[in-house]
Amino acid sequence: MNAQAVIISVGTELTNGMTVDTNSAVLSRRLAELGIVTVSHVTVGDDVDRIAAAITAAAADADVVIVTGGLGPTADDLTRQALAKAMDADLVLDEASLAEIQQFFQRLGRVMNQSNRVQAMRPEGTEALANPEGTAPGVFARLRKALVFLTPGVPPEMEAMLDRHLLPRLSALAGRGRLAFRAVRAFGAGESDIAAKLADLMRRDGNVLVGTTVGAGVVSVNVTAQAVHQDLADRIADETVNEICRRLGRWVYGTGDETLAGAVGGMLRRRHATLSVAESCTGGLLAQLVTDVSGASDYFVGGAICYSNRIKQDVVGVPAKVLQTHGAVSEQTAQAMARGARERFETTYALAITGIAGPAGGTETKPVGLVYTAIATPGQTRVQENYFHGDRTTIRMRSALTALNMLRQELTDTPDSQELAP
Ligand code: AMP
Ligand code: MG
Repeated sequence: MNAQAVIISVGTELTNGMTVDTNSAVLSRRLAELGIVTVSHVTVGDDVDRIAAAITAAAADADVVIVTGGLGPTADDLTRQALAKAMDADLVLDEASLAEIQQFFQRLGRVMNQSNRVQAMRPEGTEALANPEGTAPGVFARLRKALVFLTPGVPPEMEAMLDRHLLPRLSALAGRGRLAFRAVRAFGAGESDIAAKLADLMRRDGNVLVGTTVGAGVVSVNVTAQAVHQDLADRIADETVNEICRRLGRWVYGTGDETLAGAVGGMLRRRHATLSVAESCTGGLLAQLVTDVSGASDYFVGGAICYSNRIKQDVVGVPAKVLQTHGAVSEQTAQAMARGARERFETTYALAITGIAGPAGGTETKPVGLVYTAIATPGQTRVQENYFHGDRTTIRMRSALTALNMLRQELTDTPDSQELAP
């Protein structure tokens, strides 16, 4: 049987809803890679008795207990005291940790505050885990049959400690079967169309599981392969990914954590091409997705948020007659926006979006969710009419991604080597 874990997140900011607990999700996913199954997530406020009770209960239940948060220097950081209580042990000063904390402050050119001294404390009989990213060391303890880890709450500090201290100690507990995870990202087809092409791969037997999830039109095909050795699990996973990519063809834009904007950005860079945008109902979301990618300045020059008709005319040159005759949400306006942006911003490509994001503003002939996405290329301008459903946020996100996907398809048809003048 696979080893089991309980994750305890500590902090009143979590229980009162001010901060969303992301650490538990990260920890569960990383443990799963080792074949360690997380059986529960527990969230506790900054209360020493409740934290101690949660640790005691978890240690009776699981092989691994990971606690995040409450290792700071202030009065509401009580996780080390709670572990001492659960272990019925005294807190002792760890000299090596104290020296490391002092050095941390020295490197920053600051004097250590006396309150930080408590961070060097750990229950007697436990081990300190050095924190490469901050002042709070972690703690490693054995309580009943469980391995207990205290880690900082600050996500990058927690993750650094996970890589450096937890995973090496936990790999001995790893399940018999080693797991490999992959994800294939697709856009431009519905989940059921994609599932239809993968039906035989998605059967729930065998040593590789294939499942789909969908968000804002991006369909993710998730692959989990299991084998006796990691190498074999990796090979099975990679072969499955290749087969999925072969079957889904042009729908696939990337794998792993790759975003559509990242994939498109890479294609633009390789072609020495540039991009501008003209956005109405997405209000800059497309530009945001494009610039979420580090290095976007290599290909993205900027754009216009043309919300009003006046800006559509003045900034990207949509003819007044087009707006009068066809309306702001029309194929003709989208086309004029894309063409105008491409000319005025002097780019190889321009994308334009105009539509009705709702919930208000829909009519019989132009319902909420009607969105025109357009692309202007050196050769032509193309417009796509879309009917999206969902709330305002969903419709806007789907609009931006659909525009990006039009560019991706255009670039897929343009060989890498082809140099494009703006
Ligand atoms: P702490 O280690 O409890 O002092 O937490 C420091 C900061 O890390 C908190 O102010 C939160 O912003 C953040 N944090 C704590 N726990 C979590 C968690 N489980 N998920 C995400 N952020 C957290
Ligand atoms: Mg806290």
